[in-house]
Amino acid sequence: MSETIFSQIINREIDADIVFEDDRCLAFRDVNPQAPLHVLVIPKKPIDMLVHADDTDAELLGHLMLVARRVARDEGYGEAFRLVVNNGEAAGQTVFHIHLHVLGGRAFQWPPG
Ligand code: AMP
Repeated sequence: MSETIFSQIINREIDADIVFEDDRCLAFRDVNPQAPLHVLVIPKKPIDMLVHADDTDAELLGHLMLVARRVARDEGYGEAFRLVVNNGEAAGQTVFHIHLHVLGGRAFQWPPG
């Protein structure tokens, strides 16, 4: 997988507003927030997109979801938040390092746009 802006954030080559980190993942505020809470949760392992994750990534992917829940709670949005994973350009993916969007603090529409 080629270097992305997110691997540069993991390597501290560029700044980000980091809200959580452990040995497997990093969570930081989206630079272009779409809601009062908009945090990205990424694995330190460079997986470019969900479709390329495999069975050995199952625990890691579950961990990302639990970290997303923790971030929402810690930020005061634990009762209502939305998780989004964009897989592929047509679905809106622009950074090819898998990430969960954690969004909260406003009403959300369904179906999503
Ligand atoms: P996606 O379109 O699902 O691939 O989401 C990529 C997200 O990364 C977008 O919401 C961008 O605003 C966000 N983003 C891009 N560069 C940065 C950055 N340097 N720091 C924080 N968020 C970023």
